[in-house]
Amino acid sequence: MIELNDIKRTRDFEIFGELAKNDHEQVVFCNDNETGLKAIIGIHNTVLGPALGGTRMWNYISDSEALNDALRLARGMTYKAAISGLNLGGGKAVIIGDADKLKNEAFLRRFGRFVESLNGKYVTAQDVNMSENDMEYISMETKHVTGLSESIGGAGDPSPMTAYGVYVGMKACAKKAFGNDSLEGKSISVQGAGHVGMHLLDYLAKENVKLYVSDFIESRAKAAASRFGAQAVGLEEIYDLDADIYSPCAMGATINDSTIERLHCQIIAGAANNQLDDEELHGHMLAKKGIIYAPDFLINAGGLINVGIDYLGGWSKEKVYRKTERIYQTTLDILNLSEREGIHTQDAAMRVAKRRISEIAKVKKAL
Ligand code: NAD
Repeated sequence: MIELNDIKRTRDFEIFGELAKNDHEQVVFCNDNETGLKAIIGIHNTVLGPALGGTRMWNYISDSEALNDALRLARGMTYKAAISGLNLGGGKAVIIGDADKLKNEAFLRRFGRFVESLNGKYVTAQDVNMSENDMEYISMETKHVTGLSESIGGAGDPSPMTAYGVYVGMKACAKKAFGNDSLEGKSISVQGAGHVGMHLLDYLAKENVKLYVSDFIESRAKAAASRFGAQAVGLEEIYDLDADIYSPCAMGATINDSTIERLHCQIIAGAANNQLDDEELHGHMLAKKGIIYAPDFLINAGGLINVGIDYLGGWSKEKVYRKTERIYQTTLDILNLSEREGIHTQDAAMRVAKRRISEIAKVKKAL
């Protein structure tokens, strides 16, 4: 017969099992009955510095779905900061519920209090379903918030810098693939004409390239096409084009069993997070097919660099540009490492990020 204690122990073990799987440091569950706030703050790793990562609000179907999202996203932030040379760790917060119904000043400020209670171990920023105004409310209760709007002295919209990082990362791939980092004469397909996609198209259009663009919202694809002299293509058509470079700037997991078969490109370099449906499997498949893949968390880090420097202090546009520009050399280094070691590029990038964390852990040992 199962005793109540056994059942409880099994459940406890499941949560810690999840944390142990990817070595998460801490999870904070935030509950406030009066405002209706339910949030989870996932802290993956703080070896390099405070865990920075945005807050997203989503109507998750279950608490475990919310927890998984917080854990997965927090882990991603750790490696993005590490490979970018930032002294920041990885964290992410998720607020559970309908953003249209629940968000108000008290609700958001209450969340800010929870962030403040961590004394800077977690630093928040804007993410899905959180507006600049929402972040301003949060900042009334905590100083551990970054990426506030420029109108109140913050670093503002991260997407121009994200696009710049993707652009230089793409050029590094071109250098490896074609022996020259000029994109002139190449054909490039950009999936998603949103914040990042539009800024990226702007850079690319100046290089005399043939551009294709797709967007879930057709009018956006058409508007982007006419503004940048691109050709608007269908949502599925983009995978079958005869383009040299494919740039996913919409959503994750677009590189999977079925799309890899269809892609004819030599380079994949885009802004979307978690582009590989299965990091190991699809990383290998791309390498086998001879497609150079720019690891997403490496080349889309410009936005993080922007808000990270804003939080750490000494922000200036020049400083952010300079650090984002380093994505070019890091990408080349990763591509060369992958070639030397016979490993796929995602694996090479993860190794470099993990090595930095373990090296700095040695530095931070108590004296
Ligand atoms: P966004 O929401 O402004 O733009 C995304 C665009 O993709 C929208 O126009 C949307 O209609 C379109 N889209 C959705 N599904 C599509 C589909 N199936 N095919 C084609 N288009 C589709 O987002 P964003 O800020 O431009 O970010 C783009 C991607 O880059 C996201 O995956 C985001 O997580 C990632 N990213 C963004 C930043 C940043 O600074 N904004 C930083 C790092 C990573």
